Amino acid sequence: MNAQYLSPVSVGLTRCRVCKCTEMRACFPPCYWEPGEPDLCDRCAETIRQVQQWLQVAVRPSFAALKREAMKANAPGHAYGRLRKAAKR
Ligand SMILES: [Zn+2]
Ligand SMILES: [Zn+2]
Repeated sequence: MNAQYLSPVSVGLTRCRVCKCTEMRACFPPCYWEPGEPDLCDRCAETIRQVQQWLQVAVRPSFAALKREAMKANAPGHAYGRLRKAAKR
């Protein structure tokens, strides 16, 4: 089971265990594998470090609320992007 899990790394089919990016389809801007982590990209590693800091300083950190806010912040940006594109025509 362990060998099966590790084999994709050796054949270059590594997939980030957090965001599922691969060497063929990287994050944007392109990410790198975190040193010492065979299946974790540096984009996710940085995010994990920030979340760990947040867990230490927040009074009652809620992942559900964090995700809700993160998704909420993302949605308007995509909508505005479409609107701006449409207005240019
Ligand atoms: Zn990642
Ligand atoms: Zn990545």
